[in-house]
Amino acid sequence: MTDTTASTARTGFLDRHGVEHPFGDGAAETQVRSDDRGHVFHSWSAQARIDPLPVAAGDGSTFWDYRGTAYLDFSSQLVNLNLGHQHPDLVRAIQEQAGRLATIQPSMANDVRGELARRIAGVAPGTLNSVFFTNGGADANEYAVRMARRVTGRRKVLSMYRSYHGGTGAAIALTGDPRRWANEPSDPSVAHFFGPYLYRSAFHATTQEEETQRALEHLESVIVLEGAATVAAIVIETIVGTNGVLVPPPGYLAGVRALCDRYGIVYIADEVMVGFGRIGEWFAVDAFGVVPDLITFAKGVNSGYVPLGGVVISGRIAAFFDDVAFQGGLTYSGHPLACAAGVATFEVFERDGILERVRDLGERVVEPTITGWLDTHPSLGEVRGRGLFWALELVRDRDTREPLVPFNAAGADAAPMAELAAACKAEGVWPFIHFNRMHIAPPLVIGEDDLRRGLAVIDAALTVADRYAQ
Ligand code: PLP
Repeated sequence: MTDTTASTARTGFLDRHGVEHPFGDGAAETQVRSDDRGHVFHSWSAQARIDPLPVAAGDGSTFWDYRGTAYLDFSSQLVNLNLGHQHPDLVRAIQEQAGRLATIQPSMANDVRGELARRIAGVAPGTLNSVFFTNGGADANEYAVRMARRVTGRRKVLSMYRSYHGGTGAAIALTGDPRRWANEPSDPSVAHFFGPYLYRSAFHATTQEEETQRALEHLESVIVLEGAATVAAIVIETIVGTNGVLVPPPGYLAGVRALCDRYGIVYIADEVMVGFGRIGEWFAVDAFGVVPDLITFAKGVNSGYVPLGGVVISGRIAAFFDDVAFQGGLTYSGHPLACAAGVATFEVFERDGILERVRDLGERVVEPTITGWLDTHPSLGEVRGRGLFWALELVRDRDTREPLVPFNAAGADAAPMAELAAACKAEGVWPFIHFNRMHIAPPLVIGEDDLRRGLAVIDAALTVADRYAQ
């Protein structure tokens, strides 16, 4: 494993013709900014209020703006860049695939598509042995729900408050965060429930055991009150991602599995963010010893080099569709360029021991370091996570647990978190900020020195948050 960061070596960037330019080329930066501001319509944003950073280059865990400012990417872009920027094996796999067969429609059989499906099935738990490929995470969840509805003949789907499942029709309906609000009414057959979150327990629990037991009692009540015979599926992020790196307490997911079995409900594990190594497992359910009926994935499967997602399907559900046509499809299902990058991802993971590395760095470096901050930073309410996936939950007051900024804060209300982010960026670390939390999610290939350097920057930046805390 090499430290892929090349921050000291790089003095410029390549344009799209392969011509090298020195950093500081103001004309190039101006052109990128003006094309973007003039014509690119951005996600989840008031278009006139944003100023997207023009990015000139990326390498490993680092990316550069046009002025040559290097940022250590502690958010792996959108927690998808598991193997870092410009990984040579992934780039080569895409180039080679483009050179021999750039695309082929999904109803034909293709070597890399088949190999990737076989490899995914090989690391999936239980009888999950078939893969339906999508273009990303939202459509993976759309299709998983569609399968569950068809198999059960039921319509309703249950998902958690504090969750994100994607921006499209059913996926945004499943989502339990403010991104859903403006998109309602969406799918009317979705109901939400509270998942476990001991730090802010909806059940007044004080121990993990209580939280597990009460969260499961609550879920069972929701199932019964919604009408068990109407519920097709329960969709759960194995570790809730953007909404807080909420690690389920022992026994919770096993309890969900048991409830699904009791009521004939399909258990869909959304592993779009946590699958493919983020917590040091191929699939995060492996850390909790449960086998869902469907697993959805995207992001880390090929680090997003070419859009790809999918659904891994249990033997029972796959068998249902042996003689019943599956009514769903996409022109780019199993796109060869995306699948070639996926196969290369498996090769890199196996050759470089990525899963072991993530577990090691998480346990040996991140956890002890950030846990130590609880002694020195009064704004730190709780740290939690696993592997290379952690949250720092920031508070104004440790006793009351009042969040450092209100739920869904924007503008002036969000200022303390914006200042914290700015303090990190000023020292060359690109953070992941959501509400009153900072998440730590660097590429899985980050060098240990860079990891420690980034953590030291965050440690220093937290003094900004401390000023708001009692
Ligand atoms: N599910 C989870 C848990 C996610 O984190 C995301 C994206 O962040 C999605 C689904 C949606 O994936 P995509 O943006 O590829 O549609």
